[in-house]
Amino acid sequence: VSEGDSIHWLARRLEPVLAGRVPDRVSCPSVRTRASGWPGRLAGRAVQRVHARGKHLLLDFEGDLTVHSHLAMTGSWRVLDGGLWPRRARSAWLCLGVGTRDVVQFGGPTLRLVRTRTLHADARLRALGPDICAPSFDPAAVVARLRRDDPRRGVADALLDQRHVAGIGNLWKVEGCWLAGVDPFRGLGDVADAELLAILGELRPRMLDSATAGRQWRFKTIYGTADRPCPRCRDLIRVRRQGDANRPTWWCPSCQR
Ligand SMILES: [Zn+2]
Repeated sequence: VSEGDSIHWLARRLEPVLAGRVPDRVSCPSVRTRASGWPGRLAGRAVQRVHARGKHLLLDFEGDLTVHSHLAMTGSWRVLDGGLWPRRARSAWLCLGVGTRDVVQFGGPTLRLVRTRTLHADARLRALGPDICAPSFDPAAVVARLRRDDPRRGVADALLDQRHVAGIGNLWKVEGCWLAGVDPFRGLGDVADAELLAILGELRPRMLDSATAGRQWRFKTIYGTADRPCPRCRDLIRVRRQGDANRPTWWCPSCQR
């Protein structure tokens, strides 16, 4: 699941492999990127930094170039060691080889090479709300952004909106509402500031833990558990699709009010 914490965790894994290194090999095998010219533009340049902003992954190269990646639910990055190439290597969009290792990117809605200094003008990055996995995070600023949204919008759906808070995906939306005991379908206008802060307060330490140590699945409690008993009250968990993106929301009708 490509939520903010998993992208921060990915950046932490790629950083020691790539940062400060000039890749020995750069290639774009897939039909999608074969004609991109990226290998020529990236050749001989050191990777300066690998970092995340919300669900976006950024690889800064020296000489004002950044690889900007957004994986959504379809893309991935892999670190392959010792030439253990999967059969789908030919579908890789970008490969950066360092020593015996290859950092390989597959699929996703966004992979582009841009001037680092123009990144700030990217509409999606500009619009991002505070990053819940960043070292400093102001939950009150997120509440202020949520208050500018339609008060009839369901709270769980609004939490997915990266313009309000960057990094929360479907798993954390579900778990945050359950942890704080808030009905995910309540309109924003019926949810108190204290309840919004409670959801963010439950999520942030868990997401930071996952961003630094990985293994996001440790934090799953009710996500994906329709018709199974709620761990808190034993009533049955339900699921219903919600919002413009029609994403499934699991919730407990008894202890989430
Ligand atoms: Zn319950």
